[in-house]
Amino acid sequence: MGKVYLIGAGPGDPELLTVKAARLLVRATVVLHDSLVSREVLARIPATAEIVDVGKRAGQKLLTQDEINTLLVSYAGSHDVVIRLKGGDPTLFGRAGEEIQALREANIAFEIVPGITAALGAAAAAGISLTDRRAASQLVITTYSRGEEAANADPFAVTPSLDWAAISANTTLVLYMPGADYAEVSRRLLAAGQPEDLPCVIVSNATRPNQQIRHTTVAALATESRLPAPALLIVGRVAAHRLIDLISVGAQHAAPHARAIDPSRPKPQ
Ligand code: SAH
Repeated sequence: MGKVYLIGAGPGDPELLTVKAARLLVRATVVLHDSLVSREVLARIPATAEIVDVGKRAGQKLLTQDEINTLLVSYAGSHDVVIRLKGGDPTLFGRAGEEIQALREANIAFEIVPGITAALGAAAAAGISLTDRRAASQLVITTYSRGEEAANADPFAVTPSLDWAAISANTTLVLYMPGADYAEVSRRLLAAGQPEDLPCVIVSNATRPNQQIRHTTVAALATESRLPAPALLIVGRVAAHRLIDLISVGAQHAAPHARAIDPSRPKPQ
């Protein structure tokens, strides 16, 4: 019986693989990977290993999650080192929970090797400190595409959508899978009380040769042209270029509870 390694491939740059991930990849007998894993990382898989692309692209699923779970279990019966390679960190928006459950139920040994999640790769690429103490006291990593519709259809399939009450003026929001419709994302952010001039940054293909970074604001996001996937959105004062914006944008819009718990906010004159 083999062992299954759920490994984070990082955001793209192969140098951002952990030493452990790189060491295990060389020993792989089979690798099941997502479409998010970069070509440069895939190039590190030895020629002797079997490679299975279980990725899915924008709705066009190659394999269902159940099929992937079944594959993992069956490969563990025939291969020594089974690697489940996922973009970023394997446990963030990667359905690792279902795979872990399947492996546990089948009594298969497994190990999780964390990776650098896209939010961290993107923030580094954009030169942003996600928790700059002058502007942020909490970081919310969330996703736009887990809609309420899906939650209603199957209450166990997805958790309810973002809890906006948790987002204060001192929150940095990182939105994975922002989708094609930036106008809709902008509208939702505004409807949830985010200030129009709150800085945000779109980072596409973070840490890859085709990386693109675009600075905008929550309101202006509506008319931005779409950047290629994978892309994410960093929303918050930490994304400001100028120190004055970092400190003051949106302060007057802050929810009362946010003001009350923020000792660092400048006192009103
Ligand atoms: N497990 C992954 C996330 C999977 S969800 C992780 O930890 O990073 C897929 C989403 O991740 C994409 O829609 C995009 O929003 C984001 N993403 C992944 N790689 C990215 C990259 N190199 N640059 C920008 N966003 C990326």
